[in-house]
Amino acid sequence: MRAVLNGAIYTPTRIIPREGVVLVEDGVIVDVGTVDQVGVPEGAERVDAGGGIICPGYVDIHVHGGGGADAADGTPEAVRMAACRLARAGTTSFLPTTATAPFAEIWEAFDAIAAVMGDRRPEEARALGIHMEGPLFSLQQVGAHNASLLRMPDAEERERLLSYSGSLARVTLAPEREGAMDLIRDLSARGVLVSGGHSDALYAEVCAAMEAGLRHITHLWSSMSLMRRIGPKRHSGMLEAALVEDGLTAEMIADGYHLPTSLMKIAYRMKGPEKLALVSDAMRASGMGPGEYDLAGIVAVVEEGAGVAVTRDRKAFAGSISTMARCVREVVQVVGVSLVDALRMATETPARIVGVEDRVGRLARGLAADLLILDPLTLLPRQVIVGGELLDGVAP
Ligand SMILES: [Zn+2]
Repeated sequence: MRAVLNGAIYTPTRIIPREGVVLVEDGVIVDVGTVDQVGVPEGAERVDAGGGIICPGYVDIHVHGGGGADAADGTPEAVRMAACRLARAGTTSFLPTTATAPFAEIWEAFDAIAAVMGDRRPEEARALGIHMEGPLFSLQQVGAHNASLLRMPDAEERERLLSYSGSLARVTLAPEREGAMDLIRDLSARGVLVSGGHSDALYAEVCAAMEAGLRHITHLWSSMSLMRRIGPKRHSGMLEAALVEDGLTAEMIADGYHLPTSLMKIAYRMKGPEKLALVSDAMRASGMGPGEYDLAGIVAVVEEGAGVAVTRDRKAFAGSISTMARCVREVVQVVGVSLVDALRMATETPARIVGVEDRVGRLARGLAADLLILDPLTLLPRQVIVGGELLDGVAP
């Protein structure tokens, strides 16, 4: 048994400011509370948080890779490399996210991710399930994806896709595409979270998709329809639907580059900490030095000292290289969100959005013993604990 103590505990819904302890054994949290309530069993190994903040490990529901590897590379080794990088940065569970590619390559990536899912090594973050991002997108909202590969699945590909529902946690798609409504219905019936994104849908189309099972919206403001005029009238798009519809949760890339502070404030005020998740949307260059990296066929450049990747012509971002730890710091120190809400948006809320809140995302009895000890000033992790084991080295 280990006892993590001497820090302020954020569960994150409850704060135990002092004299708190988290007890972990066999990879699971066995108790949380004040030392007076819970007690520290004799023989327990004490992990001293040194006056830091003790919180759950971060849950990133939209991340492509890191440490030089991408979840779409098609090998279990690549998924594991990314999982190691994420764990060292404080992200203890994640949805490995694939990008637009020919279906044959996507299935290969799915198989590789599925192979890693039930077989985590101690130094790796938990791969909770696959997030398929592309190619079921609108041609008008391609973002950094390969436009020539955007399409809906044919009957055979559709069957294959549904056959992955055991390991598929989430699919991002444009609900206005042909056949999308039936697909939303079939995926949600199998427990897969369907989120709208890379979409040019009108408000009414988003609402119709909600009837079919759409529950979440992918990276607010990035690659989605906004209010537009058709003739004399203004029509809302996916963004406005995401902000005002209570039946939709949402996520934002809070790396400090993709969205200005004002937009992050709008998202936070409109959705609140229970319906808005922070995501990194990071790619393989996260955790690496400057250089050129492959991003689903395009070249992403990371310059010396840069906090984001750009295209070769420097005209667009080519993926985030951030981490959940940096996103939390950004929304606290720059956007002005309270630490408790920022932590919620990085732990409990994303876990609930993808339906794994009984496994991860909180410091509560019976959940995975995934914990962080944050520095109280920088808010970056000083120690990462995954499955009750202390990781060597932290690189947020
Ligand atoms: Zn993405």
